[in-house]
Amino acid sequence: MTQTTELLANFWEGRWQYGTGSGTGLYDPISGAELVRVDVTGLDLATGFNFARAKGGTALRALTYRQRGAVLSAALKVLQANRDAYYEIATANSGTVKNDSAVDIDGGLFTLGVYAKMGDTLGDRHFLVDGESARLGKDPLFQIQHVQVPTRGLALFINAFNFPSWGLWEKAAPALLSGVPVIIKPATATAWLTQRMVRDVVDAGIFPAGALSVLCGSSVGLLDQLQSFDVLSFTGSAETAAVIRSHPAVTQRSVRVNIEADSLNSALLLPDEAQGSESFELLVKEVAREMTVKSGQKCTAIRRIFVPEALYQAAAAAISARLAKATVGNPRNEAVRLGALVNRTQFNAVKDGLEYLKTQAEVLHDGASHALVDADSTSCCLGPTLLGVRNAAGSDASDRVHDTEVFGPVATLLPYRDLGHALALVRRGQGSLVCSLYGSDKVVLAQAALELADSHGRVHIISPDAGALHTGHGNVMPQSIHGGPGRAGGGEELGGLRALNFYHRRAALQASTAVLDLLKASEVQTP
Ligand code: NAP
Repeated sequence: MTQTTELLANFWEGRWQYGTGSGTGLYDPISGAELVRVDVTGLDLATGFNFARAKGGTALRALTYRQRGAVLSAALKVLQANRDAYYEIATANSGTVKNDSAVDIDGGLFTLGVYAKMGDTLGDRHFLVDGESARLGKDPLFQIQHVQVPTRGLALFINAFNFPSWGLWEKAAPALLSGVPVIIKPATATAWLTQRMVRDVVDAGIFPAGALSVLCGSSVGLLDQLQSFDVLSFTGSAETAAVIRSHPAVTQRSVRVNIEADSLNSALLLPDEAQGSESFELLVKEVAREMTVKSGQKCTAIRRIFVPEALYQAAAAAISARLAKATVGNPRNEAVRLGALVNRTQFNAVKDGLEYLKTQAEVLHDGASHALVDADSTSCCLGPTLLGVRNAAGSDASDRVHDTEVFGPVATLLPYRDLGHALALVRRGQGSLVCSLYGSDKVVLAQAALELADSHGRVHIISPDAGALHTGHGNVMPQSIHGGPGRAGGGEELGGLRALNFYHRRAALQASTAVLDLLKASEVQTP
């Protein structure tokens, strides 16, 4: 008799509902075993979207920012109490070692906690005052005041497979704090963790009905449900992003959309840094870390490493020496530092991507040289591979390394002639999430950072004095914005209170000073 795995329920229209189809399996990337199944067949999408808007939105907007912050704090407590279960799911379904699971799980909880605390800062209000009042004419009696009020639609989140926890909470926390109900559609491959977290907070009765819904399975028809005051936040590949951008919800109904897509992030060692200098060592350490954390399945991971031409060999040797120490295999084995790629599709995509890059680059450290621990060739484990282009002219000529995101433990070392050349090469990523700079000349660091600021969401500047303090090239802190222009999607998330802008509508109120004063004093509340 064939044993079927558990079908995960969707939280839809305020109740747990099962799809009526046979479902899609989620797998263990080490053993290949099916773990659970997901399905949304037969769910009434229109009714569920309306339920979220009407019930969830109304209930959330009735609360103040402080009260919504308290709701987020209560959710955080529930999630913290269930952390062990999340780690088990991540090991089984994402194939990640404990430290890598923490980036997703604890990173998500930390972000939720930061937004929970912001509720107190915003206080007992239902709207945000935006800037100062300004006179509209000579007489000061008639003025303008901008305000921000929560949108009366819902927030639909379509997320990528690599952050089932962080991707949920970094979006849901600012949305819920703003008073906007959330529908989350996690990537199918790793939907289990998202579903389990939503299940825990829903079953604990934390949120008002309709405030948080989860759909696990196909995305078909979701965008058709979006209406003018809804917002859509997408994280995933550039290909899917293009489909989303051209959907009538966006092109005809003006649904506000935020897109976080792929990115060819870079690390740059400034000129005049000697082999073995503190800055050299900081770059080497960070590159090796970025290539191996979550097996390189991070949108912010370093893909291109720029070093002065004279340091190419030294950097290649130093990074390779660190990578060689990485133990690869089954995340359940304590000795393992690099778990698996999420599934066979990703494994094959990374292998294909490597072959594509290898046509224009040499192999400096071969991931295939790593023996697998407690795993065999049927698993989705892959060692880290460092590629390289021998000279500065090659860095110009190898267009593939500037254009192709291989979403795994892969990066390319690229030599440059001078700083101008290096900055031009960094910009060939056509807009990235993050670039990190390493050097001891603070003036040059600051100048280079400003040169790169328009083409990056974040520039991470590491001088030796910050060497032990910095938060990491790839770590997205809720205080700073996340997103990048151009091919990175053009989106912007987080950044402290800035995240709330996406979920509010800004309006200009033009009135007598007396009315505006009343309003600002919160004597007039939104109904
Ligand atoms: P993906 O294949 O584009 O899928 C992303 C999400 O879109 C999934 O939930 C997927 O659902 C859904 N989807 C697929 N086709 C759709 C359609 N036609 N309409 C609506 N939704 C659709 O991306 P992925 O492979 O999960 O993620 C890897 C990529 O995400 C990488 O390129 C990485 O750089 C990027 N990423 C970016 C960030 C960032 O913040 N910038 C963060 C993480 C990842 P199914 O899973 O059910 O197909």
